[in-house]
Amino acid sequence: MNNTIAIAVHGGAKPFSATVEKNTSHYEEGLREAISSAYDILQRGGYALDAVEAAVRRLEDNIYFNAGIGSALNSAGMVEMDASIMDGSNLRAGAVAMVRKVRNPVSLARSVMTGTSHVFLGGEGALQYAERVGLELHPEPFFVTDEQFAAFQEHATKEASAKIKVHGTVGAVAADVHGNIASATSTGGTTFQMEGRIGDSCMVGSGCYANNKTCAVSTTGDGEYIIRGVIAYDISAAMEYSGKTLQDACNFVVCQKNKDVTGDIGAIAVDALGNIGISFNSECMLRAWKIGDGQIALKILR
Ligand code: ASP
Repeated sequence: MNNTIAIAVHGGAKPFSATVEKNTSHYEEGLREAISSAYDILQRGGYALDAVEAAVRRLEDNIYFNAGIGSALNSAGMVEMDASIMDGSNLRAGAVAMVRKVRNPVSLARSVMTGTSHVFLGGEGALQYAERVGLELHPEPFFVTDEQFAAFQEHATKEASAKIKVHGTVGAVAADVHGNIASATSTGGTTFQMEGRIGDSCMVGSGCYANNKTCAVSTTGDGEYIIRGVIAYDISAAMEYSGKTLQDACNFVVCQKNKDVTGDIGAIAVDALGNIGISFNSECMLRAWKIGDGQIALKILR
């Protein structure tokens, strides 16, 4: 088989802010690196699943994105991370929630998928499993950046009515030469979220979904709306049951079906033909993509 390879990554759908403006060049560099690491794999005939894991690991390791190092702090001043991954060739999936100390939660999610009979591990058990399979662990301060600590402090001192939601997430979708697609999503959640809050990013069907027959999707935004709207699966369902094209399915679910949602919703998607679909209702979404041997496309605003 010699299908068109394609990769898209995101670094969160969110309001445009002074932080976004200040960090634009860092975001662009990080997105570009993530695309390149996935593209290297796809170009050599590698699998979409490996490509999305590689891209998300790069973003988790990048201090400017809210996942892995640089994750948001919860109301207890701690980092609790969520991640998921799905293989569209066999509908296998792995997910982890409320993970601490694990440098790359996306790899833990993949290990849950391939090394256990389960789909989803959370909390202490997920950490113990990460230790058992030898994933890289670090003490909690390793994950805390100055920027996220300042955001936490600012939030902690604000009146409840003045609190704005600060969030972000990273994700990747890819199509390989074999006709397979995959998706992965990873996040530190939202700044000052309740301890134990679990967002959409680790939920198969909401934050992440992949099926070779339709599409692979990674979402970002206000997780509570994305969970209730089962956004990633709904995009797939719009293709499967209504025969929509990839981009039409993304637009329909994000901008029409959920048009009354007051929170941010963003999605990136790919199909097995190497088409890419992107839709978001927020002021900006950090995103980049590359199809075949074309140029890397990079965008933050609309
Ligand atoms: N969806 C993530 C969450 O709610 C945050 C984000 O994507 O910005 O945890």
